[in-house]
This record gives sequence, structure tokens and C-alpha cells, in this order.
Amino acid sequence: MRASGPGVVEISRRVAGNLPAPRTATLACFRDDAGRIIDQGLVLHFPGPRSYTGEDVLELHGHGSPVALQLVLRACLAAGARIAEPGEFTRRAFEHGKLDLAQAESVADLIDACTERAARSAARALGGMFSAEVRKLAAELLELRALIEATLDFPEEEAGVLREHDVQARVASLRQALARVHSKARQGSVLRAGLHVVLAGRPNVGKSSLLNRLAGEERAIVTEIAGTTRDALREAIQIGGVPLHVTDTAGLHESGDALERIGMNRAWQEIERADAVVLMADARDGVSDAEREIWRKLPHSITTITVLNKVDLTDRAPHRSSCEFGPSVSVSAKTGAGIELLQQELLRTAGWQNAGEDVYTASERHLRALQATGAHLARVAESFDQLELVAEELRLAHDALAQITGEVSSDELLGEIFSRFCIGK
Ligand code: GDP
Repeated sequence: MRASGPGVVEISRRVAGNLPAPRTATLACFRDDAGRIIDQGLVLHFPGPRSYTGEDVLELHGHGSPVALQLVLRACLAAGARIAEPGEFTRRAFEHGKLDLAQAESVADLIDACTERAARSAARALGGMFSAEVRKLAAELLELRALIEATLDFPEEEAGVLREHDVQARVASLRQALARVHSKARQGSVLRAGLHVVLAGRPNVGKSSLLNRLAGEERAIVTEIAGTTRDALREAIQIGGVPLHVTDTAGLHESGDALERIGMNRAWQEIERADAVVLMADARDGVSDAEREIWRKLPHSITTITVLNKVDLTDRAPHRSSCEFGPSVSVSAKTGAGIELLQQELLRTAGWQNAGEDVYTASERHLRALQATGAHLARVAESFDQLELVAEELRLAHDALAQITGEVSSDELLGEIFSRFCIGK
């Protein structure tokens, strides 16, 4: 049980009998509001600002059975606490400056991570690696802004001052640095969201065999904790640490009862936002009318990777080529031949370049902000003859960057971000 805010001293006195010394695990009996013992455990008090939220924080470590926990919870509520909203602890940590917004968001990413690699990249963002690089860009931008503003105020020195500081070259190098951060963040966002793949093909081409083969030893970490198992339609697979969400179209037949139709609607929604379709055919027949018919039912813009399976039954070796739907890979789900080619093709489709260890988790929101910054800087580069315009574009670029770390944020945005968290985080 964790509580945060000015009331925790009172809660500790009433539920645990006393307030323990700061940051010292102390054994206590927990009592309800009638003074009856309900559990025994450790009490920890973190006086603000040296706590997760920056406020006074109290932790009660009990035996954790649902009933005992309910009783302790009820005792805390009677002593003046209320149930936290989703992400409220982390939101308060953000509001008290313990974390910036990008770091706070990575807490949820760390909790949701379903591969080790995704968890490590979220941990890097939580540690402030992404924020530090964004701040470095922002500091450089601020310096440039100051320079331009000063030049606007003292126009007679304009040409000299700007030349001296080589503003154009600095904007160019800033754009390069931004592109590097964007590329790492983009990789991180692939890790965070995973790859959404739809598996399609007529019966017996080997869809289940391929799924099993892809899952192989690369099973993602799946837990039963609410919120981590997202959808029964997806298999938990990973390719080199990138989570892979596979939607099988086998269940997408016509008719079905109401419940089944709800499931099918969900599957179609998944397909709409999938990164790629894996359309399977038999390597002995190649692409036929049956595949063309399936392909016609799929969303138009989606990338299709054709898999010619059962290549072991032909006299050809597995290889990558192309067909009428786009790239194609011949494989054998049975022997595993060519599977690596397919995995590479899938990762390439999602924009994953086998980046080193220094990628960090980023969200769509962060990517949009980085893109906006880049767009404003591009306009700066084009408008050097109009300093007012340069000043304005630099300001907009700076604002876009500041949104990442939360120096510029709205209540609405914060609400949206923190509602994604579970209660108690
Ligand atoms: P699904 O109906 O598309 O899911 O197909 P299955 O995965 O159930 O496979 C249908 C049949 O084809 C099974 O008997 C598999 O053992 C066989 N099969 C699947 N992949 C291969 C392959 O690569 N080579 C060979 N020789 N047989 C395969």
C-alpha cells in the first residue's frame, strides 16, 4: 500500500501506531479504525521532497492477501486517504519536478514492456537519456534564439554578429543532431508498440506452422497481470527483442453469432492498423487466384509480404524476391529454412534498423514533436534573409521540443498521458 500527500503522517499514526524514522523499515501492527489488529508488516516513511512523488510518502508492506489488503486499504481510507487515480503517483512526481514528462511516460512503457529489449529501452528513457538529448537540443536552440533576438534589437551589427557565430552552420548541425535523436526515438517507438502483423492465407498453407516457427524460442514474456495480456487474437512473439503481434485471419469467416462478430470486428480493427500482412501461399503453386481474392479483402495501403511456404517440397533454396503483391520470401515452416529472411523482411517493414543498445522508448507524441521541430528548423534554413521569420520559426521549434519534456503542456494532455497508467503507479 502506498500513500502520498500531507495526510500520510496521520494515516501512519492511526493505522501503524506511529510514524517510523525516515527511510527506515520498521515492523508494526496494522489496525483498523476500531483498533483491531488486521495485519503485521513493515512501515516506511519517505518525507518529501526525497520521495517518489516529492511529497510525504508512506508505504505499508503487509502480507498481501486480497482480504488483508482490503482491510488495510479500508483502514487507510478511514484515516483520511482516498483511492489514487491511474498514474496519479507518477503525475505528482512530474508536477513536483521529480521526473520530466518523457521520463514519466516511460514508467508506463516499462510496465507494459513485453520483451527484455523493450524494457531496457524504457529504462533508458526513465533514466533520462532521451530527455537529456532533447534538453541538449533545446539549449542549443535557445542560444540561437538569443543570438537572433539580439541581432534584431541591434540591426546595425546584424551581418557581423551572425557571421561571427556562423548561425547557418549551427542550424545545419542542429538539424543533424535532431535527425539522430529522431532516428533513435523512432527505433524506440517500434520496440514500444511492437510490430503488428496479419497472417492470411488459405487453409493448409502452413499458417499455424509458421506461427509456431516464429514463436520458437523467441516467445515474448507473457504475464497474467491485468493490462499486459492485451488480446487473445495475438500471439506473444518477438523477433530479436522487437515484440511481434500476430493477428490470425483464420477466424475471420462470414456469419457467426453476436459474440463472434464482436471478435471479428476487433480483428478487422487490428488489421486496419497493422504494419504488414503476411500472405501465405504454397511454394509449389506460387501465387494463385485464391491469394488474389484474400488480398482484395485486405486494406489497400497495407504492406504485403508474400510467403511461399513448403519450399522444402520444391527443388529451390529459400530466397527473397518479389511478386505482384510486393516482396516475397520462400521458406519452410517445417524445417525453418528461410525463416531468418522472413524475420529480416518483417523488421525492415516496420522501419527497424538493428540499432545498438542506445535506443530509448519514445511515443508517437514524442515523434510528432521531433518532426515538428525538424519542420520549423527546415524553414529557418530557408528564410535566412528574413530575420523576423527566423526568430519566429526558432521559437516554434523550441516550443515543439519543450512539449516532449513537459515544459509546455496542457491539463488535457497530462490527463490523456496519465490515464494510460494503472492505479497505484
Ligand atoms: P494452416 O491451415 O494454414 O494453419 O496450415 P498448417 O500449419 O496446419 O499446415 C498444414 C499442413 O502442412 C500440415 O500437415 C503441416 O505439417 C504442413 N506444413 C506446414 N508447413 C510446411 C512446410 O514448410 N513444409 C512441409 N513439407 N509441410 C508443411
